Amino acid sequence: MTIQSREIRLKARPTGELTPDLFELTERAVAPPDDGEVRVRNLFMSVDPYMRGRMNDVESYTPPFALGEVLQGAAIGRVLESRAPGLAAGDLVTSNLGWREAFTAPPATLARVAASKVPPSYHLGVLGMPGLTAYVGVLDIAAMRAGETLFVSGAAGAVGSIAGQIARVTGCRVIGSAGSDDKVRWLVDDLGFDAAFNYRDVDLEAALSEHAPDGLDGYFDNVGYEHLQAAINHMNDFGRIAACGSIAGYNAATPGPGPNNLAFVVRKRLMIRGFLVGDHGDWRAPFAADMGRWLAQGSVRTRETVLEGIERAPEAFIGLFDGANIGKMLVRLAHED
Ligand code: NDP
Repeated sequence: MTIQSREIRLKARPTGELTPDLFELTERAVAPPDDGEVRVRNLFMSVDPYMRGRMNDVESYTPPFALGEVLQGAAIGRVLESRAPGLAAGDLVTSNLGWREAFTAPPATLARVAASKVPPSYHLGVLGMPGLTAYVGVLDIAAMRAGETLFVSGAAGAVGSIAGQIARVTGCRVIGSAGSDDKVRWLVDDLGFDAAFNYRDVDLEAALSEHAPDGLDGYFDNVGYEHLQAAINHMNDFGRIAACGSIAGYNAATPGPGPNNLAFVVRKRLMIRGFLVGDHGDWRAPFAADMGRWLAQGSVRTRETVLEGIERAPEAFIGLFDGANIGKMLVRLAHED
Protein backbone atom coordinates (compact mmCIF):
# COMPACT_ATOMS: atom_id res chain seq x y z
CA MET A 1 0.00 0.00 0.00
CA THR A 2 1.35 3.45 -0.83
CA ILE A 3 1.30 6.17 1.82
CA GLN A 4 1.23 9.92 1.34
CA SER A 5 4.23 12.03 2.36
CA ARG A 6 4.24 15.81 2.50
CA GLU A 7 7.63 17.37 1.86
CA ILE A 8 9.30 20.75 1.49
CA ARG A 9 11.06 21.75 -1.71
CA LEU A 10 13.40 24.66 -2.39
CA LYS A 11 11.48 26.97 -4.73
CA ALA A 12 13.98 29.83 -5.08
CA ARG A 13 17.39 30.80 -3.74
CA PRO A 14 17.58 33.60 -1.16
CA THR A 15 19.54 36.80 -1.70
CA GLY A 16 19.61 37.82 1.97
CA GLU A 17 17.03 37.33 4.70
CA LEU A 18 14.93 34.19 4.39
CA THR A 19 11.24 34.40 3.52
CA PRO A 20 8.55 31.66 3.54
CA ASP A 21 7.97 31.95 -0.22
CA LEU A 22 11.39 30.36 -0.89
CA PHE A 23 9.87 27.05 0.23
CA GLU A 24 7.10 24.94 -1.29
CA LEU A 25 4.98 22.26 0.41
CA THR A 26 4.20 19.35 -1.93
CA GLU A 27 2.84 15.83 -1.53
CA ARG A 28 3.97 12.52 -2.95
CA ALA A 29 3.01 8.85 -2.71
CA VAL A 30 5.65 6.64 -1.10
CA ALA A 31 5.44 3.06 -2.40
CA PRO A 32 6.22 0.03 -0.24
CA PRO A 33 9.93 -0.82 -0.06
CA ASP A 34 11.60 -2.79 -2.84
CA ASP A 35 13.99 -5.63 -2.06
CA GLY A 36 16.93 -4.21 -0.09
CA GLU A 37 14.96 -1.17 1.14
CA VAL A 38 13.03 -0.04 4.19
CA ARG A 39 10.13 2.39 4.43
CA VAL A 40 10.41 4.95 7.22
CA ARG A 41 8.02 7.44 8.79
CA ASN A 42 9.91 10.44 10.22
CA LEU A 43 9.05 11.49 13.77
CA PHE A 44 11.19 14.63 14.02
CA MET A 45 13.33 16.64 11.63
CA SER A 46 16.07 19.05 12.54
CA VAL A 47 16.61 22.54 11.20
CA ASP A 48 20.23 23.68 11.45
CA PRO A 49 22.02 26.93 10.60
CA TYR A 50 24.39 25.22 8.12
CA MET A 51 21.38 24.64 5.84
CA ARG A 52 21.39 28.38 5.10
CA GLY A 53 24.73 27.93 3.29
CA ARG A 54 23.32 25.03 1.27
CA MET A 55 20.58 27.29 -0.09
CA ASN A 56 23.23 29.32 -1.96
CA ASP A 57 24.63 28.02 -5.25
CA VAL A 58 28.25 28.12 -4.09
CA GLU A 59 30.93 25.53 -3.49
CA SER A 60 31.30 24.56 0.16
CA TYR A 61 31.92 21.53 2.37
CA THR A 62 28.39 20.32 1.55
CA PRO A 63 26.83 20.62 -1.92
CA PRO A 64 24.10 23.23 -2.52
CA PHE A 65 20.46 22.16 -2.29
CA ALA A 66 19.03 21.64 -5.77
CA LEU A 67 16.25 23.98 -6.87
CA GLY A 68 12.88 22.23 -7.05
CA GLU A 69 14.12 19.23 -5.05
CA VAL A 70 13.12 18.11 -1.57
CA LEU A 71 15.42 19.62 1.06
CA GLN A 72 17.63 17.32 3.13
CA GLY A 73 18.68 17.30 6.74
CA ALA A 74 18.85 15.22 9.88
CA ALA A 75 15.72 13.33 10.89
CA ILE A 76 14.74 10.49 13.16
CA GLY A 77 12.01 8.06 12.19
CA ARG A 78 10.48 4.65 12.71
CA VAL A 79 10.87 1.80 10.21
CA LEU A 80 7.40 0.88 8.96
CA GLU A 81 8.36 -2.12 6.81
CA SER A 82 11.70 -3.69 6.05
CA ARG A 83 12.84 -5.77 3.09
CA ALA A 84 16.48 -5.37 4.03
CA PRO A 85 18.75 -7.27 6.42
CA GLY A 86 19.77 -5.48 9.62
CA LEU A 87 16.62 -3.39 10.05
CA ALA A 88 13.16 -4.47 11.20
CA ALA A 89 9.77 -2.80 11.47
CA GLY A 90 9.72 -0.72 14.64
CA ASP A 91 13.43 0.16 14.59
CA LEU A 92 14.35 3.78 15.18
CA VAL A 93 16.68 5.23 12.53
CA THR A 94 18.40 8.53 11.90
CA SER A 95 18.89 9.73 8.34
CA ASN A 96 19.75 12.77 6.29
CA LEU A 97 16.27 12.54 4.73
CA GLY A 98 14.43 15.17 6.71
CA TRP A 99 11.99 17.79 5.31
CA ARG A 100 9.67 14.87 4.36
CA GLU A 101 7.21 12.77 6.30
CA ALA A 102 8.11 9.36 4.85
CA PHE A 103 10.56 7.76 2.46
CA THR A 104 12.06 4.49 1.24
CA ALA A 105 15.82 3.97 1.32
CA PRO A 106 18.48 1.28 1.59
CA PRO A 107 19.80 0.70 5.14
CA ALA A 108 23.28 1.91 4.19
CA THR A 109 21.92 5.49 4.21
CA LEU A 110 20.44 5.08 7.72
CA ALA A 111 21.81 4.64 11.23
CA ARG A 112 19.92 2.37 13.64
CA VAL A 113 19.40 3.86 17.10
CA ALA A 114 19.57 1.33 19.94
CA ALA A 115 16.37 1.06 21.98
CA SER A 116 16.53 3.17 25.16
CA LYS A 117 14.38 5.35 27.39
CA VAL A 118 15.84 8.50 25.81
CA PRO A 119 13.26 10.51 23.79
CA PRO A 120 13.93 10.02 20.04
CA SER A 121 14.33 13.76 19.51
CA TYR A 122 17.47 13.81 21.72
CA HIS A 123 19.32 12.04 18.90
CA LEU A 124 18.96 15.22 16.80
CA GLY A 125 20.15 17.46 19.63
CA VAL A 126 21.98 16.77 22.84
CA LEU A 127 22.94 13.21 21.82
CA GLY A 128 23.32 14.02 18.13
CA MET A 129 25.34 16.33 15.90
CA PRO A 130 24.87 19.51 17.99
CA GLY A 131 25.92 17.74 21.20
CA LEU A 132 28.99 16.25 19.55
CA THR A 133 29.89 19.67 18.13
CA ALA A 134 29.77 21.14 21.63
CA TYR A 135 31.85 18.28 23.06
CA VAL A 136 34.57 18.48 20.40
CA GLY A 137 34.67 22.28 20.50
CA VAL A 138 35.04 22.55 24.26
CA LEU A 139 37.27 19.58 25.02
CA ASP A 140 39.38 19.20 21.87
CA ILE A 141 39.50 22.52 20.00
CA ALA A 142 39.37 24.95 22.95
CA ALA A 143 40.94 22.27 25.20
CA MET A 144 39.28 23.70 28.31
CA ARG A 145 40.65 22.67 31.68
CA ALA A 146 39.28 22.99 35.21
CA GLY A 147 39.70 26.46 36.67
CA GLU A 148 39.69 28.25 33.29
CA THR A 149 37.06 30.67 31.98
CA LEU A 150 35.07 30.04 28.79
CA PHE A 151 32.82 32.50 26.95
CA VAL A 152 30.10 30.95 24.76
CA SER A 153 28.10 33.01 22.24
CA GLY A 154 24.77 31.72 20.94
CA ALA A 155 24.71 30.20 24.40
CA ALA A 156 21.00 29.39 24.58
CA GLY A 157 20.98 27.46 21.30
CA ALA A 158 21.44 23.75 20.61
CA VAL A 159 25.24 23.76 20.50
CA GLY A 160 25.90 26.68 22.84
CA SER A 161 23.72 25.47 25.72
CA ILE A 162 25.48 22.10 25.70
CA ALA A 163 28.95 23.62 25.23
CA GLY A 164 28.52 25.78 28.30
CA GLN A 165 27.36 22.85 30.41
CA ILE A 166 30.22 20.61 29.27
CA ALA A 167 32.64 23.34 30.33
CA ARG A 168 30.86 23.68 33.68
CA VAL A 169 31.03 19.90 34.26
CA THR A 170 34.76 20.12 33.41
CA GLY A 171 35.22 22.63 36.22
CA CYS A 172 35.36 25.83 34.17
CA ARG A 173 33.80 29.20 34.84
CA VAL A 174 31.27 29.80 32.04
CA ILE A 175 29.86 33.04 30.63
CA GLY A 176 27.17 33.06 27.94
CA SER A 177 25.59 35.59 25.61
CA ALA A 178 22.10 35.21 24.19
CA GLY A 179 19.45 37.35 22.58
CA SER A 180 16.71 37.63 25.23
CA ASP A 181 16.28 38.05 28.97
CA ASP A 182 14.37 34.74 29.15
CA LYS A 183 17.32 32.95 27.59
CA VAL A 184 19.75 34.65 29.98
CA ARG A 185 17.66 33.56 32.98
CA TRP A 186 17.53 29.98 31.68
CA LEU A 187 21.32 29.87 31.28
CA VAL A 188 22.03 31.09 34.81
CA ASP A 189 19.09 29.70 36.80
CA ASP A 190 18.64 26.30 35.13
CA LEU A 191 21.90 25.44 33.39
CA GLY A 192 24.33 26.79 35.99
CA PHE A 193 26.22 29.30 33.82
CA ASP A 194 28.23 31.56 36.15
CA ALA A 195 27.06 34.63 34.24
CA ALA A 196 25.12 35.50 31.11
CA PHE A 197 23.99 38.66 29.34
CA ASN A 198 21.58 39.74 26.61
CA TYR A 199 23.84 40.95 23.82
CA ARG A 200 21.02 43.03 22.32
CA ASP A 201 20.90 45.26 25.43
CA VAL A 202 24.53 45.65 26.45
CA ASP A 203 27.86 46.78 25.14
CA LEU A 204 29.78 43.53 24.51
CA GLU A 205 33.08 44.96 25.71
CA ALA A 206 31.56 46.26 28.93
CA ALA A 207 29.72 42.99 29.55
CA LEU A 208 32.90 40.93 29.17
CA SER A 209 34.84 43.33 31.44
CA GLU A 210 32.13 42.94 34.05
CA HIS A 211 31.64 39.19 33.86
CA ALA A 212 35.21 38.10 33.04
CA PRO A 213 37.39 40.50 35.03
CA ASP A 214 40.28 38.00 34.87
CA GLY A 215 39.94 37.52 31.10
CA LEU A 216 38.97 34.56 28.94
CA ASP A 217 40.98 31.37 28.45
CA GLY A 218 38.57 30.05 25.82
CA TYR A 219 35.89 31.37 23.48
CA PHE A 220 33.33 29.08 21.82
CA ASP A 221 32.29 31.18 18.82
CA ASN A 222 28.86 30.48 17.34
CA VAL A 223 28.25 34.03 16.13
CA GLY A 224 31.42 35.64 14.71
CA TYR A 225 31.89 39.33 13.81
CA GLU A 226 31.38 41.71 16.79
CA HIS A 227 31.26 38.83 19.27
CA LEU A 228 34.57 37.49 17.95
CA GLN A 229 36.19 40.92 18.05
CA ALA A 230 35.08 41.53 21.63
CA ALA A 231 36.24 38.06 22.72
CA ILE A 232 39.69 38.58 21.18
CA ASN A 233 40.04 41.80 23.16
CA HIS A 234 39.35 39.90 26.39
CA MET A 235 41.39 36.74 25.75
CA ASN A 236 44.24 35.91 28.09
CA ASP A 237 47.67 34.99 26.73
CA PHE A 238 47.63 31.55 25.07
CA GLY A 239 43.81 31.58 24.91
CA ARG A 240 42.02 29.24 22.51
CA ILE A 241 39.10 30.14 20.24
CA ALA A 242 36.94 27.32 18.87
CA ALA A 243 35.50 28.82 15.67
CA CYS A 244 32.28 26.84 15.36
CA GLY A 245 30.05 29.19 13.37
CA SER A 246 29.42 32.82 12.35
CA ILE A 247 25.63 32.96 12.30
CA ALA A 248 25.62 36.76 12.44
CA GLY A 249 26.72 36.72 8.80
CA TYR A 250 24.78 33.82 7.28
CA ASN A 251 21.98 35.99 5.87
CA ALA A 252 24.26 38.78 4.68
CA ALA A 253 24.23 39.27 0.89
CA THR A 254 27.83 40.55 1.12
CA PRO A 255 30.28 39.60 3.91
CA GLY A 256 30.51 41.99 6.85
CA PRO A 257 33.82 43.35 8.15
CA GLY A 258 36.04 41.01 10.15
CA PRO A 259 37.56 41.70 13.57
CA ASN A 260 39.82 44.79 13.60
CA ASN A 261 42.07 43.43 16.35
CA LEU A 262 43.79 40.39 14.85
CA ALA A 263 47.13 41.86 15.95
CA PHE A 264 46.24 40.47 19.37
CA VAL A 265 46.41 36.94 17.97
CA VAL A 266 50.18 37.38 17.78
CA ARG A 267 50.67 39.54 20.84
CA LYS A 268 48.61 37.25 23.08
CA ARG A 269 49.74 34.05 21.26
CA LEU A 270 46.12 33.08 20.63
CA MET A 271 44.95 30.02 18.76
CA ILE A 272 41.86 30.40 16.56
CA ARG A 273 40.84 27.08 15.05
CA GLY A 274 37.86 26.42 12.83
CA PHE A 275 36.39 22.94 12.98
CA LEU A 276 33.66 20.85 11.38
CA VAL A 277 32.07 18.18 13.51
CA GLY A 278 32.09 15.75 10.58
CA ASP A 279 35.90 15.52 10.84
CA HIS A 280 35.73 14.27 14.43
CA GLY A 281 34.01 10.89 14.24
CA ASP A 282 36.64 9.47 16.59
CA TRP A 283 35.10 11.57 19.40
CA ARG A 284 31.69 9.94 18.94
CA ALA A 285 32.21 7.02 21.36
CA PRO A 286 33.58 9.03 24.31
CA PHE A 287 30.92 11.68 23.65
CA ALA A 288 28.09 9.12 23.74
CA ALA A 289 29.41 7.63 26.99
CA ASP A 290 30.00 10.97 28.74
CA MET A 291 26.79 12.63 27.54
CA GLY A 292 24.68 9.58 28.40
CA ARG A 293 26.09 9.68 31.94
CA TRP A 294 25.73 13.47 32.35
CA LEU A 295 22.12 13.36 31.19
CA ALA A 296 21.29 10.44 33.53
CA GLN A 297 22.94 12.29 36.46
CA GLY A 298 21.17 15.53 35.57
CA SER A 299 24.48 17.39 35.31
CA VAL A 300 23.65 18.32 31.69
CA ARG A 301 20.12 19.40 30.83
CA THR A 302 18.52 19.89 27.48
CA ARG A 303 15.60 21.85 26.14
CA GLU A 304 13.81 21.82 22.81
CA THR A 305 11.62 24.23 20.87
CA VAL A 306 9.29 22.01 18.85
CA LEU A 307 6.99 23.24 16.06
CA GLU A 308 4.23 20.86 15.04
CA GLY A 309 3.81 19.67 11.44
CA ILE A 310 5.98 19.75 8.34
CA GLU A 311 4.14 22.83 7.08
CA ARG A 312 5.91 24.73 9.89
CA ALA A 313 9.42 23.58 8.90
CA PRO A 314 10.23 26.81 6.98
CA GLU A 315 9.06 28.85 9.97
CA ALA A 316 11.28 26.77 12.29
CA PHE A 317 14.28 27.22 10.00
CA ILE A 318 13.78 30.96 9.51
CA GLY A 319 13.30 31.24 13.28
CA LEU A 320 16.90 30.16 13.89
CA PHE A 321 18.01 33.51 12.47
CA ASP A 322 15.55 35.46 14.63
CA GLY A 323 16.40 33.67 17.88
CA ALA A 324 12.97 31.99 18.01
CA ASN A 325 14.40 28.87 19.68
CA ILE A 326 15.53 28.10 23.21
CA GLY A 327 17.68 24.98 23.01
CA LYS A 328 17.33 22.75 19.96
CA MET A 329 14.87 23.79 17.22
CA LEU A 330 12.91 20.80 15.90
CA VAL A 331 9.82 20.03 13.84
CA ARG A 332 7.59 17.13 14.88
CA LEU A 333 6.39 15.21 11.82
CA ALA A 334 4.42 12.44 13.54
CA HIS A 335 3.20 11.58 17.03
CA GLU A 336 3.71 8.20 18.70
CA ASP A 337 1.57 7.28 21.68
P1 NDP B 1 21.11 27.50 17.54
O1 NDP B 1 20.23 26.52 18.22
O2 NDP B 1 22.14 28.21 18.36
O3 NDP B 1 20.18 28.54 16.79
C1 NDP B 1 20.72 29.69 16.24
C2 NDP B 1 20.77 30.83 17.29
O4 NDP B 1 21.68 31.80 16.83
C3 NDP B 1 19.45 31.55 17.47
O5 NDP B 1 18.63 30.95 18.42
C4 NDP B 1 19.89 32.96 17.86
O6 NDP B 1 19.86 33.08 19.28
C5 NDP B 1 21.35 33.04 17.38
N1 NDP B 1 21.49 34.09 16.38
C6 NDP B 1 20.86 34.18 15.19
N2 NDP B 1 21.25 35.28 14.54
C7 NDP B 1 22.17 35.88 15.34
C8 NDP B 1 22.95 37.08 15.21
N3 NDP B 1 22.87 37.87 14.13
N4 NDP B 1 23.77 37.41 16.25
C9 NDP B 1 23.85 36.64 17.35
N5 NDP B 1 23.15 35.50 17.51
C10 NDP B 1 22.31 35.14 16.52
O7 NDP B 1 21.86 26.78 16.35
P2 NDP B 1 22.93 25.63 16.50
O8 NDP B 1 23.21 25.40 17.92
O9 NDP B 1 22.52 24.50 15.65
O10 NDP B 1 24.22 26.28 15.81
C11 NDP B 1 24.98 27.26 16.52
C12 NDP B 1 26.20 27.63 15.69
O11 NDP B 1 27.02 26.48 15.53
C13 NDP B 1 25.89 28.12 14.28
O12 NDP B 1 26.80 29.14 13.95
C14 NDP B 1 26.14 26.89 13.42
O13 NDP B 1 26.45 27.21 12.10
C15 NDP B 1 27.32 26.28 14.17
N6 NDP B 1 27.50 24.85 13.98
C16 NDP B 1 28.74 24.44 13.58
C17 NDP B 1 29.04 23.11 13.46
C18 NDP B 1 30.42 22.72 13.08
O14 NDP B 1 30.68 21.54 12.80
N7 NDP B 1 31.35 23.66 13.07
C19 NDP B 1 28.01 22.07 13.68
C20 NDP B 1 26.75 22.60 14.16
C21 NDP B 1 26.51 23.96 14.28
P3 NDP B 1 19.83 34.51 20.04
O15 NDP B 1 18.44 34.71 20.54
O16 NDP B 1 20.83 34.31 21.12
O17 NDP B 1 20.24 35.56 19.04
